[in-house]
Amino acid sequence: VAALTSDVEDEIDAVESDLDEEGPSAEKVVNSKMCAPSISACLGIDLMPSRRTTTRACLQAVYLCINRLCPDYMGVELGIGESLLVKAIAESYWPQSGGESRTDLKKEGDLGLVAMNSKNSQKTLFKPKPLTLPFVFSKLKEIALTTGNASQAKKVGIITKLLAACQDVEAKYIVRSLEGKLRIGNAERSVLVAPRAGGRCWLEKERLGKRWSQDKLATRLEQGTEIMKSVYSELPSYDSVIPALLEVGIDGIREKCKLTPGVPLKPMLAKPTKAIGEVLDRFEGKRFTCEYKYDGERAQVHRLADGTVGVFSRNSEDMSKKYPDLVEQLPKCIKESTQSFVIDAEAGQLLPFQELSRRKRKDVKVEDIQVRVSLFAFDLLYLNGEPLLQKTLEERRKLLREHFTIVPGEFDFAKSSDSETTDEIQVFLETSVKDGCEGLMVKMLDTPASYYEPSRRSVNWLKLKKDYLAGVGDSLDLVVVGAYFGKGKRTSVYGAFLLACYDSDGEAYQTICKIGTGFSEEFLQQAYDTLKPLEIAQVRGDIKAGGAKPDVWFEPKVVWEVLTADLSLSPIYTAAQGLVEDRGISLRFPRFIRIAEMYERQSLAQSGSKKKGGDD
Ligand code: ATP
Repeated sequence: VAALTSDVEDEIDAVESDLDEEGPSAEKVVNSKMCAPSISACLGIDLMPSRRTTTRACLQAVYLCINRLCPDYMGVELGIGESLLVKAIAESYWPQSGGESRTDLKKEGDLGLVAMNSKNSQKTLFKPKPLTLPFVFSKLKEIALTTGNASQAKKVGIITKLLAACQDVEAKYIVRSLEGKLRIGNAERSVLVAPRAGGRCWLEKERLGKRWSQDKLATRLEQGTEIMKSVYSELPSYDSVIPALLEVGIDGIREKCKLTPGVPLKPMLAKPTKAIGEVLDRFEGKRFTCEYKYDGERAQVHRLADGTVGVFSRNSEDMSKKYPDLVEQLPKCIKESTQSFVIDAEAGQLLPFQELSRRKRKDVKVEDIQVRVSLFAFDLLYLNGEPLLQKTLEERRKLLREHFTIVPGEFDFAKSSDSETTDEIQVFLETSVKDGCEGLMVKMLDTPASYYEPSRRSVNWLKLKKDYLAGVGDSLDLVVVGAYFGKGKRTSVYGAFLLACYDSDGEAYQTICKIGTGFSEEFLQQAYDTLKPLEIAQVRGDIKAGGAKPDVWFEPKVVWEVLTADLSLSPIYTAAQGLVEDRGISLRFPRFIRIAEMYERQSLAQSGSKKKGGDD
């Protein structure tokens, strides 16, 4: 590693001025000779494609920079605890004391510094052979792969050998690497950014045979960064990306590195919303779909052309062992035309409600109850050799439904509704919660805005959780002052109602919202029977109607308890008008809870006796 550093020092000086504004890597190299950042910088300058460095070493350098040994999903970890490291350092530098007596080392803070200082205070007769990237990397890998009996002692042995070969600052960085605390800052990002600089020096300087202007360079570097980020989000494996970059350069890498079954991509995530209103603010006028937000664990299911199946978690861990039932069930859900694929899904257990409703009514034996995991597929990212990320959700969903089959209790498509009105979303949200889900996912359906965006928390996916149903707090007691005639099935009854709150200071009713969802037919009939006799020909003088124009007005006698998602300002209703603003206040997505009390009680409250919510 140190050899690598000194090899490139001259080149670092040469390009330092160009890279000044290019983030930490070059700066770090010049300011210090730390091996790890140097590697990062090496990638950022001419070294990467040089004949001296093979593709393999370059890849190893990348892994050393990010303190890993292979892609995340392979799950190879060093697994070294602090005490083991302390033991190894002690054995390397104070072998006579048996190591154990130096366990106070960790009190000194940075073990890397301890190791370096100890090493440098040792007198050695011969300069050790320089450490090389392949050697360091292979030793780290050996440590990670050492398992079983006496593995701890074996690991200490390997570390001791490594430390014995260190010079100058090397021990510091070797130890920090072993600890998993490289302290070089934003490693993953710098590494992603570094090769694009390599691309610049290598491809462009050579191809064009001249230096570019600063502006052109900056633009080009920016483009390069974006390309690297997007390629890596689709194929998060340096094993594939680095060799491809060396082979075809930044311009050809997109073609070469695409989503590949077997390599999990970082999933697209959703932005939280507090209320349906926010969803509509974002999606109004656009086509979108609402899906059940299942309560389980994210599962990205990959099937390779040879039939191998992999299940990966939200963090790209391999979960195939955790869900053997899922792997076993999968072939039943696939149509013949389906060879290789990647689906995005939620793995959950059968929802308690469904489970119960499917069970026999009597004689259920405990030993017969078995909960198998069920897969709720909501996206298809790859199919038969073709990545689908750049297709609209509508197209991806169509392909998903065409190429997979529902197997009750084992595989289903996420339940969805493409309806667009607030009422419909409200009803669908409530149904999802009744079915045991966490709420809804609302997703853009067409246009490029609906493309799958790996690793992004995107505004094109919004989550609407059931907490929202709890509304803004306490329920409100509101008076029914008017009604709107029903349509369709509801023609013989009132279909929606105008509600008002009572302002005791002004002794008036102030309109606050229209409510038309969440009523059963039975309730509507009952409400009609109660309210019909209260119809009045003209609106009463103490009802401040504002812009509300119901079909009929009532004597204000019936009080309902209502929950709301949120409050909003309204040019129509008169509640609290003038208190905050000229406009009144309205309820967003009000939901009927129950009939409160009859007006008689309310009037008692007004004439002195206190009543909860009387000022509502
Ligand atoms: P949360 O704790 O809400 O699950 P998160 O950060 O894990 O949050 P988000 O993207 O914010 O993930 O929320 C979406 C999550 O909901 C997904 O990661 C997935 O596990 C789950 N989910 C359930 N049903 C769906 C669906 N139909 N579409 C997308 N994600 C779904």
